[in-house]
Parts: sequence; C-alpha cells; structure tokens
Amino acid sequence: MKLATKIIHAGAEPDPSTGAIMTPIYQTSTYVQTAPGQNKGYEYARSQNPTRKALEDALAIIENGKYGLAFSSGVAATDAVIKLLSPGDEVIAANDMYGGTYRLFSKIFEKFGIKFIYVDTTDVANVQAAVTPNTKLVWIETPTNPLMNITDIHAVAKISKAAGALLCVDNTFASPYLQNPLDLGADIVMHSSTKYLGGHSDVIQGALMMNDTTLREQLYFIQKSCGAVPGPMDCFLVLRGIKTLHVRMKQHCENGYVVAHFLRKHPNVDKVYWCGFADHPNYNIAKLQMRAFGGMMSFTLKDDSIEAAFKVLSSTKLFALAESLGGVESLINHPASMTHASIPREERIKNGLVDGLIRLSVGIEDADDLVEDLKQAIG
Ligand SMILES: *Cc1c(COP(=O)(O)O)cnc(C)c1O
Repeated sequence: MKLATKIIHAGAEPDPSTGAIMTPIYQTSTYVQTAPGQNKGYEYARSQNPTRKALEDALAIIENGKYGLAFSSGVAATDAVIKLLSPGDEVIAANDMYGGTYRLFSKIFEKFGIKFIYVDTTDVANVQAAVTPNTKLVWIETPTNPLMNITDIHAVAKISKAAGALLCVDNTFASPYLQNPLDLGADIVMHSSTKYLGGHSDVIQGALMMNDTTLREQLYFIQKSCGAVPGPMDCFLVLRGIKTLHVRMKQHCENGYVVAHFLRKHPNVDKVYWCGFADHPNYNIAKLQMRAFGGMMSFTLKDDSIEAAFKVLSSTKLFALAESLGGVESLINHPASMTHASIPREERIKNGLVDGLIRLSVGIEDADDLVEDLKQAIG
C-alpha cells in the first residue's frame, strides 16, 4: 500500500462499541474489570488507552515499523531511549542537533554516569573513530536543526550494528513522508510529534517507532514506569494530524523550494542552508535517503550583525516569530537566542550556528505571499 493510503487508514479501526469511524477520545483513567484480574486488555490509563493505541498503531505504520509508542513530548521520547542505558555506557551523538536534546544529555543524564561523545556525524568516519567497547547507542539527527546537515543513515547503521550499539534517528525534520530510517537500518526512530506529525501547532507530543519486539517491550516498560504518556485528547489531535501529513508535506516541499531559491538569489542574503540545493555538501546522500527536501531552511545576511538579523526577524508579517516548526503556518526563528540558547555560544559558533543565523519553517500558505513577506522584511 502507498503512503497516502496508509496514512489515512493507519490505526483506523471503527470503534468496536459504536462503529464510530474516528477513534473516540477515551477520557478515562481506569477501566472496570469483570472480575479481579479479568479485563478487556485495559487496566489503567498510564499503561493502556484505546485512543493512544490507535495513534501508536498509526505511528508504527507510517514509519514502516512494527511498533509505535507515544510520549508526552519529543524530549520525553528521547528521555525514554536514554533510560535503556546504564552508568558507564557511552553514547555517540551528533554535535549539531536540537538544543533540548543536548540539554537533556549534558545537564540531566551525564550526572547519572552516562557518557556522551559529540562528533560531526556528517562524516561517518568520525562515528567509527568514536566507537569503544562501551558504546551502546548512537544518536543522530538528519537533517539537522537548524543547519540542515545530512548524515548517511545507512552507513551509520552499519557502524552501530558492528559496534553492538543501537542507532536512534531523530526524524522530526524530515517526517515519515520524506525519510524512513528503519528501512535504512536504524533501530529506533524518534519524532517530536509536536512538529510535522501534529502539523497544526496545537499539541506537544513525542513518538518512538521500532521493529524489534524485545526493544519494544523495554521501551514500553520505561513508558509505563516513568509515566510520560500523552493524554487521550492529544493522541486524538496527532492521529488527526497524521491523516493529512502527505498533502501538507507536499506543499511544504513545494513552498520550501520556492522560498529557498528566492533567498539564494536575493542580493542581501549570504548563505542559504537547504538540503535540496545540488551544491549542498551532503546533497548526494540527501537525494538517496530522502524523497524530497521539505520546508525547513536557515540563512544569513551579507550584513552579519545581530541588528540586521533582528530587523528581519521583527519585520515579517506572515512568518510569525516563534519557536517550533512543522505547522501549517510559516514561522521565523532566531536559533542563537531562541531554540539553541541552551548551547554555549563558543560551541554554537564552532558548529556554524552564528549569531546572525535565521531559521524558517515554511508553511503551506501561498508561496507568492511568503516570498512577498520575506522581500519586504529583507529589503
Ligand atoms: C522540537 C524538537 C524536539 C523536542 O520535541 P518536543 O516535542 O518539543 O519535546 C526534538 N528534536 C527536534 C529535531 C525538534 O525539532
């Protein structure tokens, strides 16, 4: 079955009690048992909820996985993956990733004795060189936020497998429409469902998808033991969002193409980071592992002062100045002071995330209007 059909029918069994075509929002904390220990597969809503189950089935299907698990946020999903580890274990992680992931690793988990080694994963030789007998997990994000760097998922999967480590890919930026890491050898896919899966900027949620049954059992145990589960209303919203993922993504890609090319030709714009340009340093891998290139991009101005960047950031009328991404509406963001403020400045600049960098999440409005808005803001 093709993606558009799978996405609409994924996890969509008519409700057994009424035939309702949409899975109801089962707003309940517990389930009445017929006798002690006898139930219909549902005991307590931290462990099981039918709305969440419908969503988790859909999550699995859209990533070509066997299992899906939903969490109360993207970072809660990441948190669950790290809880597979023990003190002394090592994680090889990308040096260019979502600021909140870096914060969780460095400020929360390091003190529990888990070691994180950050490398530039766009060159897989760096991943290989960082492997030790203690390597238990490799964590990559591709494309990266906000510099749109691409890592070869298949090559890193081979290295991880040989090292006896799990590979987890943060697939938030691509969404399952553009890229399916499980097909390329990853063990776990992580999503901030807050972004493209939800797609309407109205919910915070996270997801993990996997194929291995033991791994699913371990992660489910963490999910119910630690309790970072999403409520049924939020599950309903993401399930509803997923149904239009393919049409939204198609438009994000079309608009992304138009906006990226507009920026590139603008005399006041210096660099444009978008993985669909043929001269992007990792374009060949992007083309190989992604179906298209999406609507996320960032750019710098020829005037590299922070004032010039701030002027653009506060002059757009359609692009709203806000954190987050992947919603139907276009957003503009200043990574250095907003999404990536938790990364030390020196570390940021070393990785190319300069003070003047501006990030766009191109929405699904009319592309002409988006270009006009940027034109008047950039001058
Ligand atoms: C937003 C985001 C996260 C964190 O997800 P939340 O839902 O905000 O907790 C992780 N990774 C990437 C790439 C993100 O954009």
